[in-house]
Amino acid sequence: MTRLIFLGAPGAGKGTQAKTLADLCEIPHISTGDILRNEVTQGTTLGIKAKSYQEGGELVPDHLILDMMRERLSQPDTKDGWILDGFPRNVTQAGFLDDLLKELEQKCDRVVNLDVPDEELVSRLLGRGRPDDTEEVIRRRLEVYREQTAPLIDYYRDRHQLVSIAGSRSMGEVTAAIQKAIDL
Ligand code: ADP
Repeated sequence: MTRLIFLGAPGAGKGTQAKTLADLCEIPHISTGDILRNEVTQGTTLGIKAKSYQEGGELVPDHLILDMMRERLSQPDTKDGWILDGFPRNVTQAGFLDDLLKELEQKCDRVVNLDVPDEELVSRLLGRGRPDDTEEVIRRRLEVYREQTAPLIDYYRDRHQLVSIAGSRSMGEVTAAIQKAIDL
């Protein structure tokens, strides 16, 4: 049973690593960014509401994300474990997750923080080519990360759940470092 939260700036490689580890552990990779992009493509009510925020690099309002995650974490496949990628993204969401996990009688094992220097983040994101990866939107996403998401590093460090991993290495090296750190 493995339950992990992945933290990291946009471009830190958290999506790739979260997916790789989820496949290795045969547990769901729950990416809020992927879920939201899918809702936008499908033109659902949630997608219509989320679109402008996502395209501008802003956080989608908490109440939309909270409902979405309550629903997702209540699905039967989460009983075997999960990796959360992109959630929580601010302190309000982290508090909600604490309450939700208590209610669902689940416990997060570790919070994996991928650490990558700023200069490298921008060049990686520009090379990625997702529709919300224009230079202006990237700049805004990094700002939002620093203001709202980075405080979660201290939040989880204070609770002794944090593992920080240097992310400026090859994909395979980062995966191996995470596996070693979380003892999988
Ligand atoms: P990245 O980490 O590279 O910025 P993501 O795919 O995780 O990319 O997220 C893309 C966008 O989706 C964010 O900029 C934001 O608009 C939205 N989003 C994803 N997760 C959340 C969340 N937990 N709360 C609010 N907005 C979110």
